[in-house]
Amino acid sequence: AAASSGGIVAYAGSKFDNTAEQTQVAQKKKMVVLGTGWAGTAFLKNLDYSLYDVKVISPRNYFTFTPLLPSVTCGTVEPRSIVEPIRKIIGKNKLLFNWFFILLSQKGEEIDYWEADCYKINTVGKKVLCRSKIGTNLDGTGEFVVDYDYLVIAVGAQVNTFNTPGVMEHCHFLKEIEDARRIRRSVIDCFEKASLPYLDEEERKKNLHFVIVGGGPTGVEFAAELHDFVAEDLTKLYPAIQDLVKISVIQSGEHILTMFDQRIAEFAEAKFQRDGIDVRTGYRVVKISDNSITMKCKSTGETSEPYGMAVWSAGVGTRPVIVDVMKQIGQENRRVLTTDEWLRVCGCDGIYAIGDCATISQRKVMEDISAIFKFADKDNSGTLTVKEIQDIFEDLCIRYPQLELYLKSKHMSDIADLIRDAKGGDVEKGSMQLDIDELKIALAHVDSQVKSLPATAQVAAQQGQYLAQCFNSMRDCEEHPTGPLRLRDSGRHRFRPFQYKHFGQFAPLGGEQAAAELPGDWISIGHGSQWLWYSVYAR
Ligand code: FAD
Ligand code: MG
Ligand code: MG
Ligand code: MG
Ligand code: MG
Repeated sequence: AAASSGGIVAYAGSKFDNTAEQTQVAQKKKMVVLGTGWAGTAFLKNLDYSLYDVKVISPRNYFTFTPLLPSVTCGTVEPRSIVEPIRKIIGKNKLLFNWFFILLSQKGEEIDYWEADCYKINTVGKKVLCRSKIGTNLDGTGEFVVDYDYLVIAVGAQVNTFNTPGVMEHCHFLKEIEDARRIRRSVIDCFEKASLPYLDEEERKKNLHFVIVGGGPTGVEFAAELHDFVAEDLTKLYPAIQDLVKISVIQSGEHILTMFDQRIAEFAEAKFQRDGIDVRTGYRVVKISDNSITMKCKSTGETSEPYGMAVWSAGVGTRPVIVDVMKQIGQENRRVLTTDEWLRVCGCDGIYAIGDCATISQRKVMEDISAIFKFADKDNSGTLTVKEIQDIFEDLCIRYPQLELYLKSKHMSDIADLIRDAKGGDVEKGSMQLDIDELKIALAHVDSQVKSLPATAQVAAQQGQYLAQCFNSMRDCEEHPTGPLRLRDSGRHRFRPFQYKHFGQFAPLGGEQAAAELPGDWISIGHGSQWLWYSVYAR
């Protein structure tokens, strides 16, 4: 019994051993977390605060449940019900994860939050330069500097206007709670303006033309919400002008919702058509003035249309502070900050990036093919048997997730299939072996299946959770380093590279309709799938 409760006894012992506790405090590494969105919050919820000296810096002292943001624009959902104060989240961690530390030691684990922007990261000196907007310090700037040993960047992305003239000045964006509130006010304003006595019909129509630029999930969902809001509430309040309302979705690609299964895209387009929402595919917005929007279509050329309100949801861009980091570390030619599969930023030390601000560079099988062969060929025979490949296969699939995708895409079920494929047809039992050249042929096209992960809350949250688990077991990792392929040797699953688990996508389409795409090609369309989808986040 004494042996089995060893862990607890050790913790209890340290309570009375003051020197041990003090040295532990002195040794704590300094960790700075930037951002309190999906990625940052998931990280903070899962991190063991007793292990690090943590400072959280973000201009927003609350977390926003972004999937419900479009519903706030039309009053379906109250703003306060989709935010959670960050100080509450930090406090929760203390209670949920460290409750026994609190019980056993006099003081709980402290973690700081400061409401400020990080405007520069010094990757060599390991410092972040921050600026608070809500108060100034002695030199009148509100600026301060924080040192770090580990930096977790979770600042998300910003809107991308693609330098389209007029977008910044005349369009709404939909990213924050304030944006949703402003949009709501603006919709009502348009209805009031259209009701004024001195306008002619053309001018009323202009004010009631709502344009959404971008046919991604956010734009589509907002269009659907707006349609319902107009149909259910506003037509009752403004009966005289209800027939003049027009909602347009402008999409440069061939379809809306291109990240979903095509059946969903078609379903959504058909639904919108029935609702009278004008979906313009193949149109690119080139200019926006205060009362007209100009777009270009390959076949018909340039057209301009009057509008009352425009919402821009057509793309994501990199924040300036991240662009600067990329310059410092030799990533200036990349589009997005790049990490390895353990979410470490490539080209610098002690920096991790999660969520929309970064992308994972998946290592290619063909880059490592010789090492893989050598590793698998345990008997140094110069050939790999089915068993030799089998022995490393699971590890290979973890290290190179594209391998599994490739087998699936080729409808191959096992290694024998792979060998037959490489050897070009039927193979006798005795010669089910591959030499290095044959292995290269067998795996030649595997890397074509490398896919970058979508910029979604699901990915961000899973990365935050994964990275926290890595940090929680960091000491263990340092004491037991493992090679890149020896992933399962000691059963330490936390050494695994980050692996995304797709739980499906969901697109509310207004009314009681929604389209959900779930793993395994199961598609359900209709009422009730919404809550199924939200449960994806509630893990
Ligand atoms: P964010 O959640 O954007 O968080 C970034 C954080 O960093 C914020 O707290 C911000 O204040 C802070 N920050 C910014 N700049 C700095 C700085 N310089 N210094 C310090 N902190 C900074 N995804 C889904 O999976 N399903 C959906 O249904 C869905 N719906 C969406 C609807 C809308 C309207 C929007 C806008 C997005 C939606 N998304 C959805 C996408 C999802 O919200 C993002 O993928 C997710 O927020 C990314 O998380 P993140 O932590 O990387 O960034
Ligand atoms: Mg974040
Ligand atoms: Mg967020
Ligand atoms: Mg990302
Ligand atoms: Mg061999």
